[in-house]
Amino acid sequence: MVIETQGLTKRYGRVVAVEGLELRIEAGEVYGLLGPNGSGKTTTILMLLGLTEPSAGQVRVLGLDPAREPLSLKRQVGYLPDSVGFYGEMSAWENLSYIARLNGLPPALAKARMERVLERMGLTEVAHRPVGAFSRGMRQRLGLAEVLLKEPKVVILDEPTLGLDPEAAQEFLQIIRSLKSEGITVLLSSHLLHQVQAICDRVGLFHKGKLVLEGRVEELAQRVLGGAYRIRLEATPLNGLAERLQALPEVSRVQAEGQGLR
Ligand code: ADP
Repeated sequence: MVIETQGLTKRYGRVVAVEGLELRIEAGEVYGLLGPNGSGKTTTILMLLGLTEPSAGQVRVLGLDPAREPLSLKRQVGYLPDSVGFYGEMSAWENLSYIARLNGLPPALAKARMERVLERMGLTEVAHRPVGAFSRGMRQRLGLAEVLLKEPKVVILDEPTLGLDPEAAQEFLQIIRSLKSEGITVLLSSHLLHQVQAICDRVGLFHKGKLVLEGRVEELAQRVLGGAYRIRLEATPLNGLAERLQALPEVSRVQAEGQGLR
C-alpha cells in the first residue's frame, strides 16, 4: 500500500476538518479525493505530506510516517499545490534549474531531466520565455515539470484544474493520467466530479471531513449520477462504508450535471 491512513483525524480548535479517515491507495492507482469546498481535502493532503500533524490516527506514505520522516518522504513524493509560485521574470528553464539545484541534482543529470520534463509538458518551445507571460495552463504544466524533476514515486495534486478553462483542464488531466503508465501513484483533489472522473481509477467522496463513499468510478457514477439532477446518495454498502453513510442522512446532495459537488 502506497498511502494508508487509520482513524486519521485533524481538529482546528472546535472545527473537525478530517475525521476517522481510512484511506488505502495502491501503487500505480490514480485516486480522486472529491468533495465540496471545506470538506477536508486539503487538510488530508497536508497530513499526507507531513505539513500538518494529525490530531489522532495514523498515516503512512511509502511506509513512512510523514510527520517523523518528512525529508525521506519529500525525496519520493511530489506535491503540486493549488497555486504554484514562480519567479515571473525568470524563464521556465531558469525556474526549473533553480528547483533542480534545490533538489541537489548534478548539473548534467539536471539538464537531461529538465529537457525531458519540458518536452513531456509541451513546454520546450517556450522554455526560454519569462514565466510571467505564461497562461495558467502553462504554469500548471511547469509546476508539474518541477514536481517530476525528482522522479517521484507518488504525485499529489491539490485542485489541479482550478482556474483552467475546460480545454486546458482536460489537457492537464490527460497529462496527470499519463503518469500512471510510469508506475507513479497519483492522488488528486477536486470539487468537480464530472471533470476528473474520467482519469481516476477510484474516487473517495468527502463530506464534512468524512469519507462517505468510495469506489471505482463506474460504480460511483452509476450510484451517484445515474438519474435525476439532484440525487441522494444511497446508504448502501460500498467498501464497508455503509455505517458512515447511514450516520450521515443529510449527506448527500450531489449536483450531477452542474458545476460540481455542493
Ligand atoms: P477543502 O480542501 O476540502 O476545501 P479544507 O481541508 O481546506 O477543505 O478545510 C476543512 C475544514 O477545516 C474547513 O472547515 C476549514 O475552514 C477548516 N480549516 C482548514 N485549515 C484550517 C486552519 N489552518 N485553521 C482553522 N481551520 C481550518
